[in-house]
Amino acid sequence: MTHREFGWTGVRVPTLGQGTWSMERDTRRAVAALRTGLDLGMTHVDTAEMYGAGRVEELVGEAIAGRRDRVFLVSKVLPEHATRAGVIAACEASLARLGTDHLDLYLLHWPSRHPLGPTIEAFERLVASGKVRFWGLSNFDVRGLAEAERLAGPRRCAADQVLYHLEERAIEHDLLPWCAERRVPVVAYSPFGSGDFPDPRSAGGRVLAAVAAAHDATPRQVALAYLVRHPGVFAIPKASSPAHVRENAAAAALTLSPDEVERIDRAFPRRRRRTLPTL
Ligand code: NAP
Repeated sequence: MTHREFGWTGVRVPTLGQGTWSMERDTRRAVAALRTGLDLGMTHVDTAEMYGAGRVEELVGEAIAGRRDRVFLVSKVLPEHATRAGVIAACEASLARLGTDHLDLYLLHWPSRHPLGPTIEAFERLVASGKVRFWGLSNFDVRGLAEAERLAGPRRCAADQVLYHLEERAIEHDLLPWCAERRVPVVAYSPFGSGDFPDPRSAGGRVLAAVAAAHDATPRQVALAYLVRHPGVFAIPKASSPAHVRENAAAAALTLSPDEVERIDRAFPRRRRRTLPTL
């Protein structure tokens, strides 16, 4: 597995981690898949209090038991809990479900109707007490990130987790350059479009297949290599099948040539700017 510095934090994190959304549907399979990923170095594990209403954090806790120290563990607070007291209580509940005494990264899941200042104060209290190593945001656009920087100062927000896949490259317009300039890592969620991966018979699907064939790889591996080609980007594919996990982990070894990147760029053109979704 390839590792790189998680932006300004300096912590070395695998370029490819593991998502856990909707893993509560088959918990035994999910735990086996997560453990397979950990064995292969996919130690960035992303979860949230929202997933399965806490059930997913419990199964993540089961999967990481005995190897917590090798995991870069991420969870998220729901926006409705993003008050000063609410964030602390939500974090403590997440820690209990995960069976750990700290998170490596704690994110605000999406922008909240509660003001951001008290949310950040709570995040900083969690950092000061050792319950959280770093805090960050999710589904924030540049305006929201700039507000966070104004409130917290530079080098406090340790990530923005956002939607990024071949058919959805809007972050490349301004969010990615803004984050790169400040060394704020960008974590790409739904890197396969949440299961809506390009059809192999489509024009884009055929380009992916051709590039994949040249590397003895699969189209999904090419997609992951394409997303993490930028040094500030990490991806967290979700796979509840151990075979899928193995395929995804192997993508870390794949490097695309500039010509291949250009062919993919052309096949999946960047669309105009759009507002980030709220989930
Ligand atoms: P995704 O990773 O884009 O796609 C997941 C789907 O792809 C699943 O159906 C999975 O099937 C399938 N898959 C994975 N690897 C495969 C492979 N090698 N071959 C064929 N199929 C494969 O979708 P996602 O779950 O939306 O996003 C990933 C993670 O990002 C989430 O789990 C979550 O942790 C995070 N996320 C965060 C937010 C946010 O608001 N911050 C929003 C969405 C997601 P199997 O499960 O059957 O293997």
